[in-house]
Amino acid sequence: MIRAIFGGTFDPIHNGHLETAAALVQELTISTLSLMPSALPPHRPQPIASAKQRLEMVDLACQQNTAFNAEDWELKQDRRSYTANTLSEFKTRYPNDTLLFVMGMDSLMSLHRWHQWQQLIEHAHLVVMPRAGVSFAPQDQELEDFISGHLTEVKDKLSQRTSGLLYVAQTPMIDVSATELRQQLQHRESNLPLPTNVYDYIKEHQLYL
Ligand code: ATP
Repeated sequence: MIRAIFGGTFDPIHNGHLETAAALVQELTISTLSLMPSALPPHRPQPIASAKQRLEMVDLACQQNTAFNAEDWELKQDRRSYTANTLSEFKTRYPNDTLLFVMGMDSLMSLHRWHQWQQLIEHAHLVVMPRAGVSFAPQDQELEDFISGHLTEVKDKLSQRTSGLLYVAQTPMIDVSATELRQQLQHRESNLPLPTNVYDYIKEHQLYL
């Protein structure tokens, strides 16, 4: 079966994550897509919501799609969460499944700054979702070589191997970012691009004010 892991800060989770992930489930016939909040993202400013709150929001958001589940593996670790370690753990847990690690185009463009980034693809395929305002233009030569060395445009090839390929999905561009959303929440704007139950949780816990 095809199993996907979509990691992120999810501070908070929003429709940019959820609508693209739902389209990806359809495009690649994914059985389970695990949304996995990261504990202490090493290369990002620290989140505003606590780890527990980010996980609870992800859990609420998962109610909208039976293929989604909230994965707490990185939050349960008491050391820095590096994706390479996480994927190695999942490969051990599900040796016979095709594993996809999902990211947005902005993450791919900065992948060469991740810890042990070239090893990620030994444990999983990398699946990249287009993102509004971010073009496919690697600035680093090693990253460009890595991408061209692993890129496939044939999605059926993903299920024929368990890891090693990079695929750019045809998911829709949903122009939402958590940074912008936090600003909108701070300004108490309404009709924001996130699930109602997540919005209610944010209000109840007075987050991002
Ligand atoms: P921030 O604005 O704080 O950078 P974010 O909106 O990018 O947050 P993250 O939780 O950091 O959200 O993102 C997790 C993953 O989801 C990353 O790989 C990111 O590229 C991807 N992602 C986030 N928003 C979108 C979107 N609108 N479309 C496609 N991918 C997205």
